[in-house]
Amino acid sequence: MSFFDTHAHIYDRKYEEAGADIKDVLARSAASGVDRILIPGDSKRTSILAVETAAAYNGTDGVTLFASVGVHPHEAKDYDDDTEEYIRDCLENREDRRVLAVGEIGLDYYYDLSERDVQKAVFEKQLLIAYEYDIPFILHERDATGDCLNILRRFYKEGKLRKEPGVCHCCSCSVEASQELIKMGFFIGFDGPLTFKNNKKTPEVLKNTPLDRIVIETDSPYLTPEPNRGSTNEPCHLPYVCMRAAEIKGITLEEAARITYDNGNRLYGLS
Ligand SMILES: [Zn+2]
Repeated sequence: MSFFDTHAHIYDRKYEEAGADIKDVLARSAASGVDRILIPGDSKRTSILAVETAAAYNGTDGVTLFASVGVHPHEAKDYDDDTEEYIRDCLENREDRRVLAVGEIGLDYYYDLSERDVQKAVFEKQLLIAYEYDIPFILHERDATGDCLNILRRFYKEGKLRKEPGVCHCCSCSVEASQELIKMGFFIGFDGPLTFKNNKKTPEVLKNTPLDRIVIETDSPYLTPEPNRGSTNEPCHLPYVCMRAAEIKGITLEEAARITYDNGNRLYGLS
């Protein structure tokens, strides 16, 4: 059985702080059957790290690594010409850089670490870049569903979203909002919170998501799924997310693994 972790920040400082070597993280990942990982960037600094990590460790223990580049709403205030130049350069050389998507991009009104107008402007800029380069994007949305959907609806109407525009990563919006995203062609990303016992909303969103739209992720090093909640998250924990998804959908783990693996490949344009 193979699993595709469609979202894991394996370059994060937390691993070093916990005394974990990236090679150990990848060895454990391989041992759990997680043989594809996309490493997302969330600022210029971490986009560089994502690209460098994918290049340096691709193939370790048979794990294939990919990267994405983009600026998260938290870091929107630091988006400048230099950053955009780096993103564009990566997209122009995407095969060499192993870059499959723009992201994480979006809106986050929970922390409000950048001003909302700045978040919106930077989100739109990167949506246009993704469209220009005909590449999927990784959407981060937290407590900003209304504004986020408004922007996406406008892009959709103007024909500036690809047929399958990308993934709503770590989806935390309502069933209704997720349905609208699915209609626009989005994949929906599920991770640790799906396994949390007090979380009623995410299982409902999953129940209403067609099988061909579901992707799974860990969002490592955060959001560790049950039964390991509280420890540093790693891609090797992905099967717990898949198991829970299988349970909710009433299919076997093998089926869920195969379907989500294929969906991950389709999302990121892999075969
Ligand atoms: Zn993330």
